[in-house]
Amino acid sequence: MTFPPPGAVPARPPSPYRVVMRKEETADTSTIVLDPVRSALPPFDPGQFAMVHGFGVGDVPLSVSRLEGDRLSHTVRSAGAVSARLETLTAGTVVGVRGPYGAGWDLSAAAGRDLLIVAGGLGLAPLRPVIGAVLAAPEGFGRVNVVIGARSPGDLFYGEEFETWRTAGATVLVTVDRPDETWRGDVGVVTGLVGRTGFDPGRAAAFVCGPEVMMRATARDLLRRGLPPQRIQLSLERTMQCGTGHCGHCQLGPLLLCRDGPVVPWNVAEPLLAVREL
Ligand SMILES: Cc1cc2nc3c(=O)[nH]c(=O)nc-3n(C[C@H](O)[C@H](O)[C@H](O)COP(=O)(O)OP(=O)(O)OC[C@H]3O[C@@H](n4cnc5c(N)ncnc54)[C@H](O)[C@@H]3O)c2cc1C
Repeated sequence: MTFPPPGAVPARPPSPYRVVMRKEETADTSTIVLDPVRSALPPFDPGQFAMVHGFGVGDVPLSVSRLEGDRLSHTVRSAGAVSARLETLTAGTVVGVRGPYGAGWDLSAAAGRDLLIVAGGLGLAPLRPVIGAVLAAPEGFGRVNVVIGARSPGDLFYGEEFETWRTAGATVLVTVDRPDETWRGDVGVVTGLVGRTGFDPGRAAAFVCGPEVMMRATARDLLRRGLPPQRIQLSLERTMQCGTGHCGHCQLGPLLLCRDGPVVPWNVAEPLLAVREL
């Protein structure tokens, strides 16, 4: 056995980044905006992730939710000890950041195509840089359709950007599972809205991110509508520790998702997800 395994990324110490802004998105989710304290890490691509280290608690993988020069934004949901700490960090706090890690969204594979960007819950975070990139280069793509689902109206975030995306030419459809008395929009799962975009399976490509059950249902719905599996990309989540393809925590069949993913096409993901994990 060779060590490090072939394709492993060299392990590096975290680089210090300072929180310059924090925006509460929902009751348990905030976006933290980070600037490098000294030198910046190499540029991230949409869909890549960082290992973000809260001093004294540990590190977690977080997708980059906005890319602006050397500045990184992460939208963090409080799920356990580390993410809870990161979610509540205030401006001025220094964290450690490693990355960029993983394979992001393959935008070149979607060049010239109509896009279907389907997000469930926090899955919108790694897709926001895709939306930003395609709307900034509209000549490179066909029609842009964004379909967003959340558990309830209170779980929706980036809402103030939906109108900006529409003004830039995107169709943006939003649905919730559980409406409240103020909600006047759609109710139900995202697959219910996909057909409403009127996308042409012959010329579309899809980017899907959300809970695994939502991604499976969406991929199967898109297949049924005639989209070929290699044109459906999804971002998979497994527990990650090193982020560099050394520790094996994120293994899925022959893949180490921190290195070979998290974004994989459905034709690769489907047979691996069909195997029950112990
Ligand atoms: C590539 C990648 C990108 C991610 N991007 C984001 C992001 O942008 N924003 C964000 O808030 N979260 C993101 N996550 C999930 C985040 O990393 C986990 O919520 C975090 O690691 C939980 O760690 P903790 O120490 O806070 O909680 P823990 O105490 O470790 O876990 C708390 C709960 O979360 C579950 N959990 C732990 N790790 C994961 C995981 N990887 N996926 C799903 N559930 C998990 C545990 O089973 C447990 O139920 C991402 C995960 C991956 C693999």
